[in-house]
Amino acid sequence: MIRLGLIGCPLEHSLSPALHNAALQACGLQGVYSLFHVNQGDSRSLNALLGQVRTGELTGLNITIPHKQNIIRFLDELTPSARAIGAVNTIYIKEGKLIGENTDAPGFLTDLNNFLQKNQATGLLKDEKTEKSALILGAGGSARAVAYALANAGWTITVAARRIEQAKEIATSHLRNTHYDALHIGPLLPTFHLIVNTTPVGMFPDIHASLWIDELPFPQEAFLYDLIYNPPETLLVKQARASGLRASTGTGMLVEQAALAFHLWTGQNVPRGVMFDAINKTDH
Ligand code: NAP
Repeated sequence: MIRLGLIGCPLEHSLSPALHNAALQACGLQGVYSLFHVNQGDSRSLNALLGQVRTGELTGLNITIPHKQNIIRFLDELTPSARAIGAVNTIYIKEGKLIGENTDAPGFLTDLNNFLQKNQATGLLKDEKTEKSALILGAGGSARAVAYALANAGWTITVAARRIEQAKEIATSHLRNTHYDALHIGPLLPTFHLIVNTTPVGMFPDIHASLWIDELPFPQEAFLYDLIYNPPETLLVKQARASGLRASTGTGMLVEQAALAFHLWTGQNVPRGVMFDAINKTDH
């Protein structure tokens, strides 16, 4: 019996049980994916759940807000990417050790590349010699994963955040080619090929909110990727599309990061269509 779950708070709107329970069924595996509500600062509950992974009662765990960083001190090892990003979203056991991984970074990059491929942006898919410049809005946990993924794929990055010190921290960590700025990036805008929103602005229930200021023109040749997946079309994506840009929300990233975690726990490659179908059956 495979027992999986997600630790975080709040968890009410999580799509992970739908994704992973569908994956278990599609792969013919007996198992269940549960939600473990753990408040910020509740180290006792975190330790108890990690203890269950050590004993094999739980096969593996996903970690979300607010524990992606503070869980690290309870683990035995981090993968090199989780260490560089400084955040963990997946925990598994290997040779008796609790390992922390971050599947958000490769999940984002895979879905971004699918999106660029679909839109025939072949120049942006090429190796590091091609000049490609991205603007990341926000500087929290997912911004670190996105910055890591893009920097390793040869992108030059500018991070724009309301707290400049957060953006600076990303730019001065292990990431190459990363600059930082406050949200006043107007004059630089025409230089970006990609804009990535990593803030929760526009996420359900605040679906009428957008970070983008109406008067600010989008760079005409750019692509826009919004990590938010609920609603399926955010106001930011609507604004970008109305200005002629190709834009995507984060459902594909959600599926990719989940499929990578599922593979770490079970060794199985779940067909992505199974997970997309599971999301479509929810009322998100
Ligand atoms: P986080 O660690 O809390 O970071 C959020 C960032 O957004 C922080 O830099 C925060 O700044 C900034 N921010 C929040 N409200 C803002 C506002 N009104 N104006 C300007 N900046 C603002 O959160 P996260 O884990 O990175 O998640 C962010 C979003 O990504 C969520 O919507 C989440 O659902 C989504 N996400 C999607 C996927 C996927 O698979 N598609 C994966 C991960 C995350 P302060 O620190 O100053 O508040």
